[in-house]
Amino acid sequence: MLRLALSALLALIATAAPARAAPAPPAHAAPAAWAASDMALPVHRVGAHSYYVEGRLEEASRANEGFIANAGFVITDGGVVVFDALGSPALADRLIAAIRARTDRPIRRVVISHYHADHFYGIPAFRRIGAEIWADARARAYLNSPAAAERLAERERIIGRWLGPHFSLPLPDRWIDGDQDFVMGGVHFALRRLGPAHSPEDLAMQVEPDGVLYSGDVVYAGRVPFIGDADTRLWLRAIDRLLAIPSRVMVPGHGPASFAPRRDARMTREYLDFLREQMGRAVRNFVPFDDAYRQVDWKRFQAEPTFDVANRRNAYNVYLQMEQEMLGE
Ligand SMILES: [Zn+2]
Repeated sequence: MLRLALSALLALIATAAPARAAPAPPAHAAPAAWAASDMALPVHRVGAHSYYVEGRLEEASRANEGFIANAGFVITDGGVVVFDALGSPALADRLIAAIRARTDRPIRRVVISHYHADHFYGIPAFRRIGAEIWADARARAYLNSPAAAERLAERERIIGRWLGPHFSLPLPDRWIDGDQDFVMGGVHFALRRLGPAHSPEDLAMQVEPDGVLYSGDVVYAGRVPFIGDADTRLWLRAIDRLLAIPSRVMVPGHGPASFAPRRDARMTREYLDFLREQMGRAVRNFVPFDDAYRQVDWKRFQAEPTFDVANRRNAYNVYLQMEQEMLGE
C-alpha cells in the first residue's frame, strides 16, 4: 500500500514538475527520507561573499523544528562553502534552497563548527547533493558517547519526522586535525581549531577578504550559553584566541551577527567568569549546590532568553567542574 502510494506520488511529481523547477538532486540520490520543512530561514548578508541564517533563541521544540542555531554560507566563483548544517536534514534542505535562490554555483564544502545536534544533524541533506563534509577530528569521541545517544533520542522525540526514520549520527567525509587554510574561487578561508572550549572539537572559520569570522558556539550572542560538559577554563582561553583573529563581523553560533566582536564576546566571557567565581566560592566553602544556587544574585543574566531553561544546569555543571579543579590542585 505504502509502496503504491509512493510510486503514485513519484509519478505525480515527475509529471507535475514545472519547466524551471528548483535544481534537482543528482540522479543517483534517493528520495529524501525525511519530512519536508517549510520553515522560513531569515538570511542576512554580512560581507561581499558571506551570509548566514539566524536560528531562534530558544531550546529545540516541535514548533521551531530544532532551528535554534545559525549557519553560514559563502558564495565564491568556484563554489559555495557552508558553515554548519543546522539541526535536521529537512532544515538543511531549506538552507540549500536559500543558497540556490542566490547562486547556481555548486555547494562544494560544509565545515561543521562542532558536533552538537543543532549544528550537524543536517549533514545528510548536504551529502545528498554531493558536498564534502569537514569536521575536527576531536568530534570522534563524542560520536560514540552516551551523551550523543541520549541527545539523539531526545531529538527523535521532538523533531523525529524531520530527521526521518533511518537517521543516524552522520560522520564527516574528512576529519581535519588542526588549522587548515584553503582557497576557493579566489577567496581565502582560514579554519582555526579553538577546542577544547565549548566542545572538544570547536572550529572557527574566517573569510579573509570579507573580514567575517564564523565563531561557532565559542561565542553566544543574546542568550545564555549552553555549557554541557564544556571545560569553562579552556573555553575562556579560546575566546581570547578567537578575538585575536582579525574580523570586522563575527557570526556567532546563536544570535545576531556582531559588528563589535570584542564587545559582544564579553557577554559569554562574563557569564563564564561569573559562574566560575560564584560556584568556585561555594565549593571552597563546602556550600551544597542547592544553597549556593539560591544565594547567587542572577539579575545580570536573568533577562536573557533561555536563562530559565539553561542557567541552573549550567551552574550545576560548573559547580562539578570547580570541585574537580579543586581536587586536582
Ligand atoms: Zn553547541
